[in-house]
Amino acid sequence: MKRLAVFLLLTLASVHSNRAQATDLVFDLDWTLIYSTREAAATADPKGVVRYGSEIYRFSEDAARVLLFLHRLPGVRVSFFSGGERERNEFVLGKLYEEINRLSGTGDETHRLQPYRIGSAQDLHVISTDTSKHFAERNKKPLKKLIPDIDLQDAVLIDDSDFADPGEERNLLRLVQTFDDIPSYASPEWRTAGLQETPTSRDDWKLERKKIVWVLGVVTQARELAARTSISFTEAVVRLTRNPQGGTLGRTAPSYAAQVTRGLKLLRTQISPCDRLLK
Ligand SMILES: [Mg+2]
Repeated sequence: MKRLAVFLLLTLASVHSNRAQATDLVFDLDWTLIYSTREAAATADPKGVVRYGSEIYRFSEDAARVLLFLHRLPGVRVSFFSGGERERNEFVLGKLYEEINRLSGTGDETHRLQPYRIGSAQDLHVISTDTSKHFAERNKKPLKKLIPDIDLQDAVLIDDSDFADPGEERNLLRLVQTFDDIPSYASPEWRTAGLQETPTSRDDWKLERKKIVWVLGVVTQARELAARTSISFTEAVVRLTRNPQGGTLGRTAPSYAAQVTRGLKLLRTQISPCDRLLK
């Protein structure tokens, strides 16, 4: 009996420590991992384009490579939360994971990488029904509901809009203003396409195209900061991406370009010697 009690205690302790070790990264889809694009842009540059009914999307640059890198970090769980319909979200993520698994090269069904959790429209927390407000002001993405065993000291929602649920404000890793799909800055097509969000300069455009690489730079830097100090991963992300007043640091902040560079260097280390020979 005594032995059983010790066994149970040890089992509970190990379950608890496993839970405490997980870092949850929850990615938004639209304007974060995917651009909603148009026929002219998709035809001019078909890289990363995926079609769903009449909708045309393009994956953000290096999205699959960054997600593969994050999947390989010890203790990291990769999830998704989009206000879109479940069927659409699962279709788009299915395509993205085909690419991630192709890059990972395991080929073995039992080792295929997959999302930890997928949240969709029905998982949103409706906090207002006032239709004069923006979608993100009426709906929030509760991480605690999506992942019941989440540790909010060790989790971020990576999103271009403020979808943070009340009480989860510090978990938002918010992207700096994102743009419509502009695969080539030099092409005149986008200037007459009636887009909503456009860059003011080539540098502005270039850094926006690397937004997911920037996320990789921030996440890895925050993990290192949390490991060598007493602050949590969540607090480390806040410290690296917000000013003392709590606002998000812009793309012109020196730290932004440094985090993109960091992400790019890490991606380079992921390329296998065989890939390098083929380049
Ligand atoms: Mg979005």
